Amino acid sequence: MRIRFWGVRGSFAMSGRDFLRYGGNTTSVELVTAAGERLLIDLGTGATELAKTLMGGEFGKGQGQLPILLSHTHLDHIQGLPFFTPFFIKGNQIRILGANPISGLSLEATLQNQLAPHYSPLNGLENLAAGVSIETIQPGAALEVPGFEIETGAVPHGSMWTTAYRITADGKTVAYLSDVEYPSYEDPLEVALSLARGADLLIHDAMHADHDYELRRGWGHSPAAAGVVVAERAGAKKLALFHHSPDATDDMIDEVVARTTARTAVPVFAAAEGSYLDV
Ligand SMILES: [Zn+2]
Repeated sequence: MRIRFWGVRGSFAMSGRDFLRYGGNTTSVELVTAAGERLLIDLGTGATELAKTLMGGEFGKGQGQLPILLSHTHLDHIQGLPFFTPFFIKGNQIRILGANPISGLSLEATLQNQLAPHYSPLNGLENLAAGVSIETIQPGAALEVPGFEIETGAVPHGSMWTTAYRITADGKTVAYLSDVEYPSYEDPLEVALSLARGADLLIHDAMHADHDYELRRGWGHSPAAAGVVVAERAGAKKLALFHHSPDATDDMIDEVVARTTARTAVPVFAAAEGSYLDV
């Protein structure tokens, strides 16, 4: 399975020379199997870069099929939706799966709000030319997506929760735990450990440098150390620090990687926009 990080930044997109190496786009991660089946996680601004690549192939001809998993609908995870060009080509089939933590609301209702005229000239999901299906999932349920086995779980994110994913394909497993803050990062919740158990790659929220965390406790995000604890306890083979703070410059992220690497035997790197990884 090949992974490409199209957006690795959290909260809002950044630009400028201090953000060139790790990238400024918000979260979007592509997974592709050896047979060519594709899955996208989150539709942050990074997804618009993927869209350009997709349009050069089947999606430009209206023959593309893409399942997309959403961790949640905070803006940094859906801001690429109104600008994701495969939506504008008739014939493409795009399936969006995600939970809605606001009780009684469907995922479709929330995404419809995003395209309301107050926020977007698209004026509603019905104006997207592609075939779009939006499925509200219940965390804890397994999902059926061609080529991928997917397990899900709800993890705490400030005053709400997000959906975390365990995705297996080609005999390899990736766990995606972005936008999570455990009651104590030294003692992560069982749901997180279970999703990350034995994973070949754990992609984990690392919004805060460890020394900044105390001032930001309760904001819904993790210090880099949280991913280490999850990776060690769950036996994950590699850790990608993810959802970098918009305040974190390239040099600051390098420092976080160095400090994090020094405290664990698990191989650690910081996810960088545009980088590929074979797991
Ligand atoms: Zn986020």
